Amino acid sequence: MSIIDLDLVEDHERHRAELASIQPDGRRRWIYARMPRGWYTTLRRIVSIVLIAFLVLAPFVTVGGHQFILLNIITREFVLFGMPFWPNDFYLIALLFLTGVITIVLFTATLGRIWCGWLCPQTVFMEMVFRNIEWMIEGGPKEQALRRNGPWTWDRWWRAGVKVLLFAAISFGIANVFLSYVISRDRLVMYIVDGPAAHLELFGGLLFFTFVFFMVFYRFREQACLIACPYGRYMSALVDENTVAVTYDNKRGESRTKWSKADSDARKHADEHGFSRPRGAGDCVDCHQCVTVCPTGIDIRNGIQLECVNCTACIDACDEVMDKVGLDRGLIRYSSLNAIEQGTSRIFTRRIKAYLVVWVVFVAVVGVLFAMRSDLDVVLLRQPKSTWTTMAQGTANFYALNIINKTSQDLPYEIAVVSPSGYSITPLNLPTMVKAEQKMEGRLVIIRSSQAQRTGDETIRLEVRSRGAVLRTVETTFIGPQE
Ligand code: SF4
Ligand code: SF4
Repeated sequence: MSIIDLDLVEDHERHRAELASIQPDGRRRWIYARMPRGWYTTLRRIVSIVLIAFLVLAPFVTVGGHQFILLNIITREFVLFGMPFWPNDFYLIALLFLTGVITIVLFTATLGRIWCGWLCPQTVFMEMVFRNIEWMIEGGPKEQALRRNGPWTWDRWWRAGVKVLLFAAISFGIANVFLSYVISRDRLVMYIVDGPAAHLELFGGLLFFTFVFFMVFYRFREQACLIACPYGRYMSALVDENTVAVTYDNKRGESRTKWSKADSDARKHADEHGFSRPRGAGDCVDCHQCVTVCPTGIDIRNGIQLECVNCTACIDACDEVMDKVGLDRGLIRYSSLNAIEQGTSRIFTRRIKAYLVVWVVFVAVVGVLFAMRSDLDVVLLRQPKSTWTTMAQGTANFYALNIINKTSQDLPYEIAVVSPSGYSITPLNLPTMVKAEQKMEGRLVIIRSSQAQRTGDETIRLEVRSRGAVLRTVETTFIGPQE
């Protein structure tokens, strides 16, 4: 093997030991990606516009009197798709979250990092918003690199200044949107109207998140996907040779050679007449266009790599080259290793079927639990450290009653012991109405009449009724003297 061959092998294998964006001595290697053009880029732009519009507008949509999505951890107010969740519905949120994780696992095992390339807010904002601004202000990769490594001229100053201002302004906007999900849009609007001076703590938090977003998109960039994102880490455990991902067709592409008109004509001639191709040349013309558009700086021709976020930029870049040299598109495409190597691919492998079963079970359980989710929660608890008391009417137990009304209407109610007989309820500080979407807390005394002539403990059943209908039945143990 010649020295040149050894260099090539070393170059092709280097990706296994190094990140494209980090130099061997640990310093950052800045990625200057070129703007891709093509069908996938257009589609991703449309998807990104829809996603950003949803992200920005969703807090301003009201459904049934609720913000469409609200995730207020501090006050424990959770609303998903206009449906409010109470702290005691937390198991549903946890199950929903688990179902989301299993959905991502299933999608990753079948379709690779489709989430990363198309749906992740980091990719959407970085590739579709911030990088476009960068290209507009600073030009293509070559100009960016020259300016960055050159002296601080006026041209470099003003471009850097405008970029920082725009990045900071958009980061501030994103931080506000983020806040509208966390503290609610009504509070956010109120704080804006009051002015920052009236809510300095919150304004400090807003500036902090603005700074975090700014640094992520201005400096950290693709490193968020490569070294910080946990999903990127466990992705490698989920994909296999049947996973459909952005893949280079090495069978068709190798051995790669620089393109020449004569080669191309000879290839076409050979293909048309069923001859073998001259010099065994593959379709890859080694133009590196797929590398120049890659936002993580990798060469997809080295095979599936952890750094590939499946953004499809290299598909568009390669298709453009294929069009120019008169070869078929799809040298880089969505495909699986098996489809390329063996010509066949099975999507529904045993592993995928197993994931599918788990996913279906979770979706069914969540669906049933949502359908059974009650509009009313009743908790009846004996007052702490209390047992029984003897009163003129009989034996008494003291209780605390909590009722959560999850509906959007006020709820008049009454509570009574339905079995066994001989019991009555005396309200103590007990409202007769539970306001819409409110929790009512009150106290009551349950008295076992001395005429019932019963002693000891007894399980009693109570009904909570509203407008003649039984809403809930609860049981509790009534405590009484043994003799
Ligand atoms: S290899 Fe292709 S799909 Fe993967 S990140 Fe780079 S450009 Fe995107
Ligand atoms: S863009 Fe296509 S032809 Fe050019 S180097 Fe990449 S795979 Fe080869």
